[in-house]
Amino acid sequence: MTAVPTHCPYCALQCATTLHQVSRPGAVEVRPREFPTNRGGLCRKGWTAPDVLTVPDRLTVPLVRNAAGELEETSWDDALDFVADRIKALQAAHGRDSVAVFGGGGLTNEKAYALGKFARVALRTPNVDYNGRFCMSSAAAATNRAFGIDRGLPFPLADLGGADAVLLVGSNLAETMPPAVGHLQGARDAGGLLVVDPRRSATASLTDDGNGLHLQPTPGTDLALILALTHVVLQENLSDNVFLGERVDDPDLLVRSTASWWPERAERVTGVPAAMIRRAARVLAAAAPVRGGAGAYILTGRGAEQHSKGTDTVTACINLALALGLPGRIGSGYGCITGQGNGQGGREHGQKADQLPGYRSIEDPAARAFVAGVWGVDADELPRSGKSAVELINSLGTVGGPKALFVHGSNLLVSAPNLASVRDRLSALELLVVADVVPSETALLADVVLPVTQWAEEDGTMTSLEGRVLRRRVAVTAPGDVRSDLAVFAGIAERLGVPGFPTDPAEMFEELRRASAGGKADYSGITWERLDAGEELFWPVPAEGHPGTPRLFADGFATPDGRAHVVPVDHRPVADDLQGEAPLYLVTGRLLQHYQSGAQTRRVPELAEAEPEVFAEVHPRVAAQLGIGDGRPVRLRTARGSMVLPVRITPDVRPDTVFVPFHFGGSEAVNELTNDALDPVSRMPEFKACAVQLTAAELG
Ligand code: SF4
Repeated sequence: MTAVPTHCPYCALQCATTLHQVSRPGAVEVRPREFPTNRGGLCRKGWTAPDVLTVPDRLTVPLVRNAAGELEETSWDDALDFVADRIKALQAAHGRDSVAVFGGGGLTNEKAYALGKFARVALRTPNVDYNGRFCMSSAAAATNRAFGIDRGLPFPLADLGGADAVLLVGSNLAETMPPAVGHLQGARDAGGLLVVDPRRSATASLTDDGNGLHLQPTPGTDLALILALTHVVLQENLSDNVFLGERVDDPDLLVRSTASWWPERAERVTGVPAAMIRRAARVLAAAAPVRGGAGAYILTGRGAEQHSKGTDTVTACINLALALGLPGRIGSGYGCITGQGNGQGGREHGQKADQLPGYRSIEDPAARAFVAGVWGVDADELPRSGKSAVELINSLGTVGGPKALFVHGSNLLVSAPNLASVRDRLSALELLVVADVVPSETALLADVVLPVTQWAEEDGTMTSLEGRVLRRRVAVTAPGDVRSDLAVFAGIAERLGVPGFPTDPAEMFEELRRASAGGKADYSGITWERLDAGEELFWPVPAEGHPGTPRLFADGFATPDGRAHVVPVDHRPVADDLQGEAPLYLVTGRLLQHYQSGAQTRRVPELAEAEPEVFAEVHPRVAAQLGIGDGRPVRLRTARGSMVLPVRITPDVRPDTVFVPFHFGGSEAVNELTNDALDPVSRMPEFKACAVQLTAAELG
């Protein structure tokens, strides 16, 4: 190996890197590579990603739990025989639905595709979903119903650079995707960076020098804030009425649904001053093309989406974008900032309960017939839509629920809400199989642990937050007896009497692109050869000579009538709102040094040293009321449980808010406290706000 071009293993920015061999076996050195999203930059996580390849507790051989309850090394054949025999016995006794599969938004496109096919064709179960349900599902649901399609950013990220204003709702880009901050410079220079966040995050603090505004609402009220921004735009006649007339189905609905959200009313709900709401609306409108501005973007992140009204909050953002005439215009638009590395591709290829490859609905007869044809099965035999992630987890081990679960690329015992319930459900299973790179919290509970390859050890494709399909390349040999998830699916499927699952990523991609042909996320024109030759194509790519589609909606939206659809929405309180005994809001979020459940980054010495443990950010006034100093312990208690954490006292959180990062496991896992109430449309759980009680405590 000399220099292998690939991409960072972590977030959906998919920063470009080259990997260089070093003398240590299995190790590489990483260098950033010029690419439009990262422009030669990497964050600290990307720079240290090679450390994950050689962590001391790397899983290298299959493990099966023995009679004494300990995980014991075994051969691949014995592990796969054991799993297949248990699946056969469980399905014979309890039916096909007694087995479930849970995937992840970090899996390559080929693995995500294979996982969905494995569930539907080899296991023939409807019980399949993935952790993307916890991430972008609200934005996906909202964009599907408004635009008829869901591609996180329907434009290249670099387009942001030319805009005069960017409204970020619930996104902390400066910590989650630091190289992306450079794309906000145009808006910052124009004084148009608008950040909605109940916490003064690193991103919100970018507005400190007069580059924009930080709107700091009460947790769970950003929907009301967006309705008020739209109200101002419409009432002050700042809207793009030509766009509304030509490209939107029902502009009057937009007016009616925001008429009662004058800024003073919104101030009472959100705490954001009415004058600031008016100012933000005018800054955003001035940047819109209809007012002669250079362009404006509205972007949402998990802070807006991880609520029991997340779909409606994103819908409100889309409605605001429609009022300003932004979507489908070069240099303007609405987009969702996808988080997980392949969060975009992960939701396109069929590992979601209600979807088939190509981002097709599993309930659509034509889609079922087409995909069944590619898979060589009878469409009538394909399972129907299954349960969403939380509902699937809650059904595990119950009467009539799944008795066995495969987990690939997900660490449920850190990342799912209401962990005590998750632990109970996983413990009630008769068979838990976890394929992972390291002994994650979830793997340690498993009956069978299968060691699988990770980023630099495998070929594959990933789809970035822009919908750009990228090549991941192998640079080192995996240690020990590690195999790809593709080999796991193939090995078990064969033992279940369903041969023919490719183990070669190129072969699997070839099948994937055929299965996607004609779907919303059409990869049919993307060949392995094109990717190998260095092309990085935005889907849809409906033919082999097609150049890809960097910008969507220029000629119409993907709805039956070609117009964007207004869905009227209204504010409602968080599901677990403040009560007398729980008078504060618990808000969770991310840190610069860690990624998702932290299973990888907590094992990187430099990152672990920089942020070694969980903490609770508390406002100085609250700390004074409790009589506690910085670093002292507090007990957080919600309706789900309680935990003791050290305090960081900071004015960056509101006096009614406690912030805790969610990257930590075991007794440090804040998802012990979070609420699993679901959004009725997307089935997203309400990670981002619940009532919490705070008391002084003793550590340990
Ligand atoms: Fe880039 Fe994200 Fe990797 Fe950081 S974690 S280097 S922002 S892809």
